[in-house]
Order: sequence, then C-alpha cells, then structure tokens
Amino acid sequence: MTRNTENNNKDTRTLDPQNNLETTLKESIEPLCYWCHNLEDENEQFLQVEISKDKQKKKYYYCSKEHEQKIIRFYKYSNNFRLIYYLFIILVPISLLVSLAISGNLLFVFLIFISLGFGVIILPHLGEKTVNGLGLKKSLVLGRVLGLVLVVIGITLFIINGMKIFQP
Ligand SMILES: [Zn+2]
Repeated sequence: MTRNTENNNKDTRTLDPQNNLETTLKESIEPLCYWCHNLEDENEQFLQVEISKDKQKKKYYYCSKEHEQKIIRFYKYSNNFRLIYYLFIILVPISLLVSLAISGNLLFVFLIFISLGFGVIILPHLGEKTVNGLGLKKSLVLGRVLGLVLVVIGITLFIINGMKIFQP
C-alpha cells in the first residue's frame, strides 16, 4: 500500500514547471534558430522542425535549410552515440572507482577524468538550458572544449603522479 503511494508521488513530480515556463516564454517572444541562435528578421519567418526525443516531440526553429539539416543530424548522431556516451560517463568510471577501492591506487582517479572527458567529447550534452542560452552550435563547441580540458588534465595528472609511483 505504501509503495503505491510513493510511486504516485514520483509521477506527479516529473514535470518541472519553471523549466517549461522558461522555454515557452522564450519561444513565444522571439524565434531563435536553435542551431546558430540568429534572431528572426522582420522580413523572414523561421520554420520549425519537429524532433522526437525520449518519446516526446519537440519543435525547434531554424533559420535556413542548412541549419535544419544540422539540427536533425545532431539528434541522429546523438541517438547513435548515446550508448558509447553512457559507457564513458557511467560504466567506465564505475569500474574505475571499484578498481580504486580495491587497489587504493590514486591513478584510477585520473583515468576517471579522462573517461568523462572522452564521453563529453563524443557527445557534448551540456543540458537544455545551455543550449537554449547559446544555441546548439556553440554549446557543442563548448562541450568539446570542456571534454578536451578534462582529458588533458587527466593525462597530465596521470603522468605526473604515475612517474612518482614508478620511481625506484
Ligand atoms: Zn541558423
């Protein structure tokens, strides 16, 4: 009985009213191209492309056919690489954490950095808010830069500390 009520509570909490309000406000005031974030001009009208994501359909404005294709391509790419992304973001870090716990070797921490970095480079998902604020194009670049920074930091720390450990 108690278990049932818990489940019901969870279901009603899934909608985030603030988030939805923000997106609807933005969309109703000024159509921005979802890819390049250009504003709609007075003498042009942005069209919308509909993309189904996680069983939900969402509409995105685009300024040109080219950018419509880029938006569609990204979501196809994102679907294709989702599993590899989760591998680097969740599965590999968990196994590295287990290895860390077993061996007590701190080098595994830096490998976690590298794995997370690879995940973000492969699929630079910075969240809907960042994409709404920057446009998809810039948020992908930003995500890849962040991923690269993580990888570089991870490799640097790994080499520095690895040399300490392997010193005679
Ligand atoms: Zn555009």
